[in-house]
Amino acid sequence: MKELMDSIQVSKTLKRISHEIIERHSSLDRVVLMGIKTKGTPIAKMIGAYIEEFTGKAVPIYEIDITAYRDDDKKQASDRLHAEAEQKEVILVDDVLFTGRSARAALDAVLDIGRASRIELAVLIDRGHRELPIRADYVGKNLPTALDEIIYFDTQALKVYIKNKG
Ligand code: 5GP
Ligand code: MG
Repeated sequence: MKELMDSIQVSKTLKRISHEIIERHSSLDRVVLMGIKTKGTPIAKMIGAYIEEFTGKAVPIYEIDITAYRDDDKKQASDRLHAEAEQKEVILVDDVLFTGRSARAALDAVLDIGRASRIELAVLIDRGHRELPIRADYVGKNLPTALDEIIYFDTQALKVYIKNKG
């Protein structure tokens, strides 16, 4: 297991993404952060905390469970989140972007929930190997990987590692 980012690099990166979000959204009033479960949520919370630190504005943060969504919990998820997506600028947040299939499912979920005025994607790590025409609007770090490698984000230590699957 090799360390790729230490906690200082991770926090600097998340601060930069937070500034980019502030820069691209002239008003934060309609911005909603949605962490893709599981690891997207702590990242969404950290970005939300930085946005509040930098602007004094707290943006809502939710967790979106694409597994539950897929497994016929669609209606339930929709009811709970409907108001949160309607006319909002939704920023999906995840730890790693790989094939793009999770982001696609999350997009599907958000589009079904309500009519968001805009949907963006923020990821800490883009490890490549896309299988769909999906890209992130905010990228912490591009880390080209081999298929048998895996990125590990330690949410406690705030460190990013790479290791072999085997
Ligand atoms: P995708 O759906 O784009 O193939 O994969 C992205 C999803 O799978 C994300 O939710 C991410 O958490 C997880 N994932 C894919 N590859 C990795 C990886 O190398 N490390 C980690 N931690 N998660 C990954
Ligand atoms: Mg995940």
